[in-house]
Amino acid sequence: MAKEPWVDQDTCISCGLCIDNVPDVFRFAENGKAECYDPTGASEEVIQAEAIDVCPVSCINWRE
Ligand code: SF4
Repeated sequence: MAKEPWVDQDTCISCGLCIDNVPDVFRFAENGKAECYDPTGASEEVIQAEAIDVCPVSCINWRE
């Protein structure tokens, strides 16, 4: 299985950056925190550069 991005919602500050940048992968969950709803919505390179690398609290990680 390919690796998937995972959001640590205890750390997420709901800034919306990952959702603005990669809306086909991330969305706001009902609790107001970001979640990955489609790990295949963008390439690993885009997810890394546009979400993981720019998250201000570094709470998005890869899960194998
Ligand atoms: Fe949360 Fe990080 Fe996404 Fe901002 S960029 S909404 S802090 S996961």
